Amino acid sequence: MITVMKFGGTSVGSPEALKRVADIIMNTESDKAVVVSAMSGVTNFLVGASENPDCDAEAVARQFEAKHLEVASQVLGEAEMKAFRKDFDERMGRLRALLGSEASRSDPYYRDDVTSQGERFSSLILAHMLRARGADSVALTSEDCGIVAEGSPLSGSADLARTASNMAIKVKPHIRGGGIPVITGFYGIRNGAPLTFGRGGSDYSAAVVANALDADLLEIWTDVDGFMSADPRIVPGALLMDEMSYGEAAELAYFGAKVLHPRTIEPVRTKHIPLKVRNSFRPEVPGTLIHQFSKPKGGLLKSVAMKTDLSIISIESAEIAFYPAIVGRIIEKIAENEVVIYSISTSLSSVAFLVHNNDVKATLNKLNSINTSGDIEMIEVKSNVALICAVGDDLLGRCGVSGDIFSAVKEARANVEMISEGASDVSLNFVVPMSKVTDVISVLHKKYVRGEQ
Ligand code: ASP
Ligand code: MG
Repeated sequence: MITVMKFGGTSVGSPEALKRVADIIMNTESDKAVVVSAMSGVTNFLVGASENPDCDAEAVARQFEAKHLEVASQVLGEAEMKAFRKDFDERMGRLRALLGSEASRSDPYYRDDVTSQGERFSSLILAHMLRARGADSVALTSEDCGIVAEGSPLSGSADLARTASNMAIKVKPHIRGGGIPVITGFYGIRNGAPLTFGRGGSDYSAAVVANALDADLLEIWTDVDGFMSADPRIVPGALLMDEMSYGEAAELAYFGAKVLHPRTIEPVRTKHIPLKVRNSFRPEVPGTLIHQFSKPKGGLLKSVAMKTDLSIISIESAEIAFYPAIVGRIIEKIAENEVVIYSISTSLSSVAFLVHNNDVKATLNKLNSINTSGDIEMIEVKSNVALICAVGDDLLGRCGVSGDIFSAVKEARANVEMISEGASDVSLNFVVPMSKVTDVISVLHKKYVRGEQ
């Protein structure tokens, strides 16, 4: 049995947190591989440095070096510190050269290279801690493992098949021999250079590693207990969810729960690898298990999530019914700004998009730019709305679900501004004014998650 264990930035963010993590790993029976994020704050620091054309490279390197050496000196004994220093100085040498090189700054992949550096050092510290505890552990970079990436700067994806065949040769034998590789999260290699998977991408890396190793379990260790049935700041009676299906987790991960990066599900879902979200600060809590099927629950809903500060942009055009390609053109234009579209709803003569309040201006500019032929008759914007996502089993297949949900919305005296139902059988999404969102969530949670009337 192989377990892939991933530890996030806060879990490796201080000497105390690192010690807890080393204990968790040593107490886990089974063959295992570890994937880590950079220590918390480090990636932000590197992003700042990579985006500042006037940054003092030596000052950045010195600050980075001092932080990691300070932490290492608190978690490693004298003998291990000596061995660590050898590897550390080598990696620091490469980082200094990278930061100091004027030529590499113009490389479109320069920022990926700089921002991915934090993981190389957190993994090194942890591997040496495990060695000091008697494990045969090595720090492996994504280069060492052969994690293959494709795509554009700062938003790569992994090539799962090539990564699996590389890791079968480069990593699996070490695990099978009882070793514990500690692998860098957040990036893969494209044409020999690092390509990051987007901010927060270490969760995705861990899923890619689990997929490549044909793991039996992926554990994402973070700083919360797991997925909750609602945001506990809004709903005091929110419950920790003990299990969910991949589909439910994929929907919820997009809703600002920040428990799991939304891209984490796919690489494990394709191989039916169960995923557990655990709290490294409270390892006694069992966390949330995400797997193929979840047990049906008594209540109609399992959880209610929301995304706030959104705007509805509605576009009227008689052409939509006769010339559906116009919808394609509109989406394509909006996507040029890399604006996220949270929901779409259409009628025969209009289409409505849900975007973040901050993206409205850029989106309107784009829409005006395609309206040269006058196909668009009217554009309307309604700002300060919130999207509510109600998640439950088989919502599409059950009779009366929408009726029940919207009667509760009526009870909260909220007007529904837009609805998206039918695209997913585990979620029903709809939009209400921001001023009503907490009332709606509270009523839905009380009635259909907790089952109180
Ligand atoms: N260190 C990277 C970031 O902060 C990746 C991660 O933590 O998941 O975005
Ligand atoms: Mg994270």
